[in-house]
Amino acid sequence: MTTLRLILGDQLSPGHRWFARVESGVVYAMMEVRQETDYVLHHAQKILAVFAAMRDFARHLRAAGHVVDYLAIGDPANRQAIPANLDMLRDRHGATTFEYQAPDEWRVDRQLADYANVWPGPSGMVDSDHFLSARDTAADLFRDRRRWLMEHFYRHMRRVHGVLLEPEGGPAGGQWNYDHDNRKPWPGLPAEPDDTRPRHDHTALWREIVASGVASFGEPMADRLRWPLNRAEALTQLDAFIDGGLPHFGDYQDAMSTRGWRLFHSLLSFALNVKMLSPREVIAAAENAWRRGAAPLPAVEGFIRQILGWREYVRGVYWAHMPGYDQRNALEHALALPPWFWTGRVGMRCLAQAVGQSLRHAYAHHIQRLMVIGNFALLAGLDPAAVHRWYLGVYVDAFEWVELPNTLGMSQFADGGLMATKPYVSGAAYIDRMGDYCRGCRYDRKVRVGPRACPFNALYWDFLDRHAAALSTNPRLALPYRQLARMDPADRSALRAQAADTRRRLEAL
Ligand code: FAD
Ligand code: SF4
Repeated sequence: MTTLRLILGDQLSPGHRWFARVESGVVYAMMEVRQETDYVLHHAQKILAVFAAMRDFARHLRAAGHVVDYLAIGDPANRQAIPANLDMLRDRHGATTFEYQAPDEWRVDRQLADYANVWPGPSGMVDSDHFLSARDTAADLFRDRRRWLMEHFYRHMRRVHGVLLEPEGGPAGGQWNYDHDNRKPWPGLPAEPDDTRPRHDHTALWREIVASGVASFGEPMADRLRWPLNRAEALTQLDAFIDGGLPHFGDYQDAMSTRGWRLFHSLLSFALNVKMLSPREVIAAAENAWRRGAAPLPAVEGFIRQILGWREYVRGVYWAHMPGYDQRNALEHALALPPWFWTGRVGMRCLAQAVGQSLRHAYAHHIQRLMVIGNFALLAGLDPAAVHRWYLGVYVDAFEWVELPNTLGMSQFADGGLMATKPYVSGAAYIDRMGDYCRGCRYDRKVRVGPRACPFNALYWDFLDRHAAALSTNPRLALPYRQLARMDPADRSALRAQAADTRRRLEAL
């Protein structure tokens, strides 16, 4: 009697209940498959990092005494799809029972549920033991409410998990949210912490991936891949962040700078999303830093809110609205992405920085994703499904359950306001306030029309104008709509013409 247990590429958690002891008659199946490299065009570093981390995890399991059957991308026996490989491994090992951990993506969840149904013997799914809430916790919480609100969910999670609470149960420091203390531009000091991440040489693996015909984009950096590829490296990175980044995380979490691509962000999303780290331990490490006086409360609260709040919340949105969420297009935007999304060669300095860094590092921080690239895509009217595919491909941490609600919902407002209470849009003023991108840009941030006008400005006013029927009654947009109403009609039509011209020549910006 053999049990075949499937471990997916984002289930690299040594702490999972399966691995507590070595069980005889259990074979762990791991596989690098074209099914997973090809569902969207991926950044080279994402493919490399996931496969390298999977190989490291298989070595770790074998060293601990577990039996692992690992199908490499170039293995001639590899059928390149999960069900076909499972059939082959069932025959190879004479497996009678099939088990898998709950997948995080709807697509894989359906596929494995269907597969388990036709497995000729006992089969079952176990929890991935990773998240602090269930797939339907958020849906349950908001069952009787008109609107979903992250802040409500977050406070619920703080209470349930006893995070940052005073002994009598109130929020630490007397406030649930310290956002108004955060969000400053970065003056250049304190210095960006040293990048102490590991350096891996995965040239051979990269050659194997390329020889297998896998297409990709972005810089592979195969000879110096910088992402943590196992739990020990992820823990080292967590420690480095707690010491160097966390104390300033709050102040500069929305800052942007040509002098620092990471600033004080943790770069932990890959390690978290492939489950090398548990959100519990990351939250505990941050809370401990505050309790021992190593980081201020606004920074620690701001950081914990991202993980205990946003990360769990978007997962709840995903499971409540899939399938079908990925097809939403409330504002009916349809323009194709201009080619510079894949080259970074664009004259708008903020986009050249944010897209360029995404292609170089497979990483951009939150405000670059939301207020530079996402803001532009929304204002220009790019097709949200195409924007979603780009985000899902480009970032090393992009897995659909977390990427889709952030991109399609929060950033593109394509769900009509489920994720965001208003569209995240701005003209050049916000980008200029939060960083130094505008200095040295070929466009003028203060100009609205004409060849030197910053494209964000006309696109911003035109976006409000075009979508007035859907958005003008939103109380959070009352001020800009009042400004628009007061605008001289000639100025308004000049902005319309400028925006239309910009949308016609996106590739030349
Ligand atoms: P830090 O700034 O150090 O934050 C710490 C952690 O908080 C992150 O590692 C992450 O786990 C969590 N977090 C922060 N914000 C969010 C959020 N909005 N939703 C969920 N978790 C959050 N995050 C992903 O993990 N994968 C994605 O594919 C992804 N796509 C995004 C697309 C868009 C358009 C936007 C606006 C945001 C997206 N995010 C995504 C959220 C966020 O930008 C990244 O988690 C963050 O930039 C990762 O870098 P970091 O680890 O340095 O994060
Ligand atoms: Fe971006 Fe406009 Fe500033 Fe240039 S001027 S960096 S295009 S916001």
